[in-house]
Amino acid sequence: MALDLRFDLNLKGLANIAAARFQLLRRIEEADINGDCSCCSCVAKGPFDRFHGGHFVAGRSIAVLFEPDNVWPQCPDCNIARHGNIKMYRAFLVDKIGEKRIVWLESQRHKNQTLSRVCLALKVEDYEKLIDQALKSLGLGPKFQDETIMF
Ligand SMILES: [Zn+2]
Repeated sequence: MALDLRFDLNLKGLANIAAARFQLLRRIEEADINGDCSCCSCVAKGPFDRFHGGHFVAGRSIAVLFEPDNVWPQCPDCNIARHGNIKMYRAFLVDKIGEKRIVWLESQRHKNQTLSRVCLALKVEDYEKLIDQALKSLGLGPKFQDETIMF
């Protein structure tokens, strides 16, 4: 598979795009057939494209940045105004992934990772394909079909 050179970004810029694509994917994966998500903290409902991908363990360089169990749809109020509404987020996770997995996520709080440009570009490419597949399953058109990654 050839990677084409769509992005002329530094490592941080590419990491931000990969994180944004992953968050979008997680919101679409968790959306119902109408494209609506429930907030992982307050159970408010809203369209996946108006929600955020809230990180339970937050931080741009954390080892669990791309861990699905760490990223769930979250309403903007909980994600920003309530600073993640973590107490309610944790209660949600107990039901979703269980206490043992939560403790593992929390143990990753101080573990960082630095991914290479190639790794990040491959993540963007993979996430864009998965986003298109997930959108298709909701009856929505592809978003990234003709785009490829430049690095
Ligand atoms: Zn909320």
